[in-house]
Amino acid sequence: MNAAAQHRLEQVRHRIRAAEQQYNRPAGSVRLIGVAKVHTATSIRSLVELGLTDIGESYVQEALAKQNTLRDLNITWHYIGHIQSNKTREIAAQFDWVHSIDRIKVARRLSEQRPTGQPDLDICLQVNLQLEASKGGLNEAGTLAAMDEILALPRIRLRGLMAIPKASSNFGEQREAFARVRLLQEALVGRGYDLDTLSMGMSADLEAAIAEGSTMVRIGTALFGLRSQRSSPD
Ligand SMILES: *Cc1c(COP(=O)(O)O)cnc(C)c1O
Repeated sequence: MNAAAQHRLEQVRHRIRAAEQQYNRPAGSVRLIGVAKVHTATSIRSLVELGLTDIGESYVQEALAKQNTLRDLNITWHYIGHIQSNKTREIAAQFDWVHSIDRIKVARRLSEQRPTGQPDLDICLQVNLQLEASKGGLNEAGTLAAMDEILALPRIRLRGLMAIPKASSNFGEQREAFARVRLLQEALVGRGYDLDTLSMGMSADLEAAIAEGSTMVRIGTALFGLRSQRSSPD
């Protein structure tokens, strides 16, 4: 069990290092987020004991239960799932990063609800540049329109953009989708916005994402194995 986890972690780290080298990215510039949705606290513990530091979760209640079980570990927690307004209080209090902000209202609530004793909550805006109806996320104009208000909010710190492009097995298509996110980020930086994070790349397309400047890859299957059906609805 542990040997399998170790093998998967080594393989994913190898893929990240190889892509950094191939695409002239500085070594260590891509952070690995282990996406643990549906997987148990025990599987998370194995990987954290092997050196994984960042865990991503998509369902609030499921995440809170695991966080409670794993209190003794030093984990940076990332919320990457759809955000319902009635869950923002728990997300604001229990996570270090939120990647999936797709409307200003959610950013306002997280800002109001981030406990004052905690460091600022790091956030990304989720973009949906392919305009897929099945996924959340802002288009280019929506992102531009949200920037000033979100940057002015206290207790949250806008770090960059997150994207989940359409699944494709074609490397060129994968790169093209990630390139659009990178270009939007570059346009924002060109306008003077101080952004340093691109959260993009999953098990099947992390190389293309790294080629296009990803700084955080969110890896589930390649680290934890296949997911069975979601077990714990919020
Ligand atoms: C599930 C999920 C991932 C991980 O996907 P894999 O293909 O299993 O690596 C990454 N990002 C988000 C937002 C997810 O929901």
